[in-house]
Parts: sequence; structure tokens; C-alpha cells
Amino acid sequence: MHSLEDYYELAGDKVISDIHKKARKLYGKHILHINSTCQGGGVAGILASLIPLMNDVGIEAGWRILHGNPDFFSITKKFHNALQGEQINLSEIKKELYTQTNKLFSVYTHINHDCVLIHDPQPLPLIKLYEKKQPWIWRCHIDLSHPNEEIWEFLKRFILRYDAVILSNKKYRSKHLPVEQRVIYPAIDPLSAKNKELSEGDISKYLKKFRVPTDKPLIVQVSRFDKWKDPVGVIEVFNLVKEKIDCRLVLCGSMAGDDPEGWMIYEMLKKKANRLIENKDIIFITSENSILVNALQRSSAVIVQKSIREGFGLTVTEGLWKEKPVVATNVGGISLQIDNGKNGFLVEPSDIKGFAQRVVQVLKNRKLAEKLGKKGREIVKEKFLITRLLSDYLDLLNEMIR
Ligand code: UDP
Repeated sequence: MHSLEDYYELAGDKVISDIHKKARKLYGKHILHINSTCQGGGVAGILASLIPLMNDVGIEAGWRILHGNPDFFSITKKFHNALQGEQINLSEIKKELYTQTNKLFSVYTHINHDCVLIHDPQPLPLIKLYEKKQPWIWRCHIDLSHPNEEIWEFLKRFILRYDAVILSNKKYRSKHLPVEQRVIYPAIDPLSAKNKELSEGDISKYLKKFRVPTDKPLIVQVSRFDKWKDPVGVIEVFNLVKEKIDCRLVLCGSMAGDDPEGWMIYEMLKKKANRLIENKDIIFITSENSILVNALQRSSAVIVQKSIREGFGLTVTEGLWKEKPVVATNVGGISLQIDNGKNGFLVEPSDIKGFAQRVVQVLKNRKLAEKLGKKGREIVKEKFLITRLLSDYLDLLNEMIR
């Protein structure tokens, strides 16, 4: 657990002092964050770093998790997919189970806080189940660039009750939503197990433990096994790269508690990989281990993120922070982080060949890789560290809480 002072060297005096100033009017205020998993995926990672820091600067911030059964998470994953543009059969049964699970939670969870922050769609209906005595903010981490209309209309009746909506990209704003829609970029914690500096000894210890050989350059994608992260596309890219350079692919994806599709997609990929000659050079990892992720990212020759939709893409931020060349798709929040050719490469999601060419280019040209990596870290330092995120939240809370 870190205190704000630990970030002093990375963030600088001004940022730290401004945070303390902004926190002053919020001392003792009781803030509640609610999401639906404490493990796996970007939201849980952010909350695990952000909430202790909020407490450290004098706010009383808490975190509760909406529990649900497998059917609930299967439905909310369908909602998530539909919000990212897929079709959905929005039956009454689905709506009922969604609202009933929220209702059950509300029966044993008392809310008398000064502000409530709801993350993502799973706990969205809670707002209807309480007598509202404080501002409620919906923080959506999803890529809302092409939402399915039916699900949007259904969820909108809850969203309209909120005092503000926070999005990760201004492109996700909806013209037809008369609620304040604010953009706050997510961020990484540079001192967390996933991002802190690691010694060479620790890196090789973790790679050995998880049987990742380092005799060939590593191409790494760290992502939940999710169709939106396009792991099939990554394998296709790898096949093309392999024709030019001998290398290994690592697909590392832990299973998030609120994403029931992970194992199914993982099994499908393993089968696909088994049919390939290059199979022995594709390594799958499903372990939930932050230091392993850190070690993998640090030992990669290139980090890839071949998403089709991406709310923000913290794995890209993590790669940039570690001064790695990142080749990723020009979608959602990734486009906010990579300036094509300056601190990484952006490729359109359907362009498998172009993606592979960029990977080969950075594998062959280590000077270029280094240059991109250096620039990448600078951009993260400037825009995407947890101290900036904390500061943005304090601004919002100061406005919302009287
Ligand atoms: N992550 C992890 N282990 C894995 C896969 C992902 O720790 O096997 C982490 C990853 O490092 C990042 C987060 O989960 O911090 C994923 O965030 P991102 O915004 O990239 O995607 P999301 O899962 O939220 O859609």
C-alpha cells in the first residue's frame, strides 16, 4: 500500500501539492465505489490503487462489489458486448435477472455516503433502488463508440438518473443523453506490482517459473481472453511475423470474475494454435500474477494490442511506461495513447498484414524500438499516471459534493 508521498519523485512537487489542496474540502467525506469484481481486468486494477490513495489524502473512500451468479455475469457480458456494438436478444428474463441481482444487493447494502461512484453497467440499476440523497456518478470504462441501440435505450433509463457520467474518450459521448458527460482518462499505478521496476533476477525468476524461454524475441499480448481483444488476429499476425523472424508469442490472460467467456475463448484458441506448425512457439498463460505480467512486458521485444474495441487499453499504457515498442490497433482509447510513428504504431483492426509488418519492423530495427519506447514513457508520465487520475476525481468530487 502506498501513500501519496511515494509518488513524489515520479509526479513532482506541484502535482502532489495540488492533490493535497484539492483534497482539503473533501476531508472526511464518505465516498463509495461499486463495481462487480475485485480481480482481473482494468477496473479492479485501477480501484485497487486509487481507493487507498483517496483514503491517504483524507477522504473516507470505500469499495463494494456487486455479487452475482453465473447467469447474471453471462447476461452482463452480453450487455457489455452489445454496448460495444454486438447484437443482443434483450429478453424480459435477462432484464429481470439483471435488476433482481441489483435488488438483492441493495437489500443488504446500506448507502449513506456523500457520493456514489458506479463502475460499468453491472451495478447501474442500483440508483433506482435507493432513496437518492447524494450525487451518483456512472463511470463507464467501455468503448461506447458503436453501442447497440436496443441495449442503450434500456440502460439509458437508469443512466438518466445519474448526476454525471464519466467516459474514457470524448468519442464515446452520446448526443442523445442529457446528462453531463465528462471525459477522464484512466491511468496506471507506476508503483504497483504490475508496473514497478524489477531486477533482472526477478524477471528471469518469474519467466522460468511460468516456463517462458527467452532464447527468441517475445511478442506479448496481455489481455483477458475476449473476442474484443482479437486473440485470433494476434495468432494470425504471429504466423506472418514468423515467416520473417524466429520469435515466440505469449498470450497472457487471467480470468476476470465478471467475464464468463474467458475459458471458452481460451479453449478455442488452444485448439486453433494446436493446428499450427508454429504451435510450439505460442505460449498461453492464464495465471493471475501481476509480477509475471510486469516481467513479461519488460522482457518482450514488442508488445501488441490487437483489439477490435477498447475502452482505454491499460495494457498499452503499461507497455509504453516500460519503454517498449507497442504495435496496436487504432481503436477506442488506444488512439489516445499512441501517436502513430512517434511512440508506437497504430494499425487498422482488419489489417493483419500491416500489423505484422509493423511488428517485423520493430523487431528488426532495435534503434527504432528504443526510440518509440522512450517517447512512450514520457507520454504516460505526462498524462496517464494514477496521480493525474486522482487529481481529476478530486476536481469532480469537489464540484459534486457541497
Ligand atoms: N491483466 C492482468 N493479467 C492478465 C490480463 C490482464 O493483470 O492476464 C491486467 C492488465 O495488465 C491491465 C488490465 O488487466 O492492467 C486490463 O486492462 P485493459 O484496460 O487493458 O483491459 P480490460 O480488461 O479492462 O478490458
